Amino acid sequence: MDLRAGGRPGSAGEATRPSVTIQDRVTETEYSERRQRLAGLLAGLRVESGLQALLVTALPNVRYLTGFSGSNALLLVTEDETVLFTDPRYQVQAAGETAVTVTVARGPIEESVAARAAKLRLKRIGFEEARIGYGEWRALGSAFGSKARLIGTRDVVETLRMVKSPAEIELIRNSMRIASTAYESVVLELKAGISELEIAAELEYRMRRGGAEGASFETIVAAADRSAMPHARPSPNRLAANQLLLVDMGALYAGYASDMTRVVHLGKPPRKVKAWYRAVLEAQLAAIDAVRHGVAAGAIDRRARGVLKQHGLEEAFVHSTGHGLGLEIHERPRLGKGDRTRLVEGMAVTVEPGVYFGGLCGIRIEDTVIVRKNGCEVLTPASKELSVI
Ligand code: ZN
Ligand code: ZN
Repeated sequence: MDLRAGGRPGSAGEATRPSVTIQDRVTETEYSERRQRLAGLLAGLRVESGLQALLVTALPNVRYLTGFSGSNALLLVTEDETVLFTDPRYQVQAAGETAVTVTVARGPIEESVAARAAKLRLKRIGFEEARIGYGEWRALGSAFGSKARLIGTRDVVETLRMVKSPAEIELIRNSMRIASTAYESVVLELKAGISELEIAAELEYRMRRGGAEGASFETIVAAADRSAMPHARPSPNRLAANQLLLVDMGALYAGYASDMTRVVHLGKPPRKVKAWYRAVLEAQLAAIDAVRHGVAAGAIDRRARGVLKQHGLEEAFVHSTGHGLGLEIHERPRLGKGDRTRLVEGMAVTVEPGVYFGGLCGIRIEDTVIVRKNGCEVLTPASKELSVI
C-alpha cells in the first residue's frame, strides 16, 4: 500500500526550499473582502442585539482582518470603518503591513479607542469575551467608563476564519511541506544517544532553514514511555535501542500553521506495538476517508473511534480526532465527540487518532488535510509506514 498521500510529486524528502507561488500571499483585496464579510455580520448583530461596532482584541483576528502582525493592537470595526490602534514601536510595521487607518497611541491604546468610539457616538460595542485578559478588560473599563456599554460576543471573526481561501491553503501547504521535509531529513539521522531536546532543536532549525518563521507550537519529541503523554515536552533523555519515538510538529509559514505526528521505532518493534500501530493507521485512514463537505465534524471522530473500538482500543484514545488550524494551531472546528459543525469545502483540519498506554508508550498518526467537495486533500507528504531505524 502506498502510504504517501498528498503533497506534490517529488516534494517529499527533498531538502529544497519551498517554491513560492503567485497565490502564496494574502492580497489587500482579500483583506478588504474579509472586512466586508465582517461588516455583513455586524449588520446582523446590530439588528439582533443593537451592536454598533466590534472591538477585536485577539491578535490572530487582527491579523486576519488587516495583515498587521505586531504584538500590541486593538481593532475597532464598524460597518463603515476599521481603525487599528497600536503603539509607537509598531508605527513603521503597521504602515507597511496594512491598508486600514492606523492610530498610533502615545498613551494607553484603550484610551485612544475610547476617544474614537466617543467621536463616533458608539454606545453599544461588542468585544471578544473569550479572547481578553483581566488586565485588558480593566483597562477598557476605565477608558470607557460609562460612555459606552461593552457587550460580550463569541466566535464572530473565528467563524469567518474557519473556511480558508485559496491563498491561505497555499500558505498552509507550504508550512506543511517545510515541516515534513525537516522531519524526513532528521529521521534519517536518528540513532541511539541523541536526546529528545537535540532532536527538537534540529527539527526547528531545519524548519527555519526551509523558510519557516519557527515552529507552530512547541515541538513534541517523546521517546519510550514518555510518548504515552500526548503533550510531552522534549526532555534531556537520550534515545536507546528498542524504543519507540513520537514526534508531533508543525511549521509557521507567513503566519500559517501546520501539524503532523509520526512514530518511529529504534530496532525491531514488538508485535504488540506493530498491532497498535496498524489499528491507529486504520482509524486514521478511515477518518480521512470520511472527511468531505457537508459531513458533521463529530462524525469524523465517531469514525476513528469506531475503528479503534473494533480493536478493543477505545479506552486508550483519550483526545479528539482533530482540530481546525490556520493563523492559530487550534481553531474551529473541533473534530470531537458530538460536534455538529458541518465541514465546509476549504476548511483546514487535522486528523490525529492515537492510543496511549501509561508506563509503556503512545502511538499517534496525524496529517493536516483540506476539506474538499467529495473528500479531502492530505497535505502531509511524509510516509505513514512505521519507520524502523
Ligand atoms: Zn500535532
Ligand atoms: Zn494537532
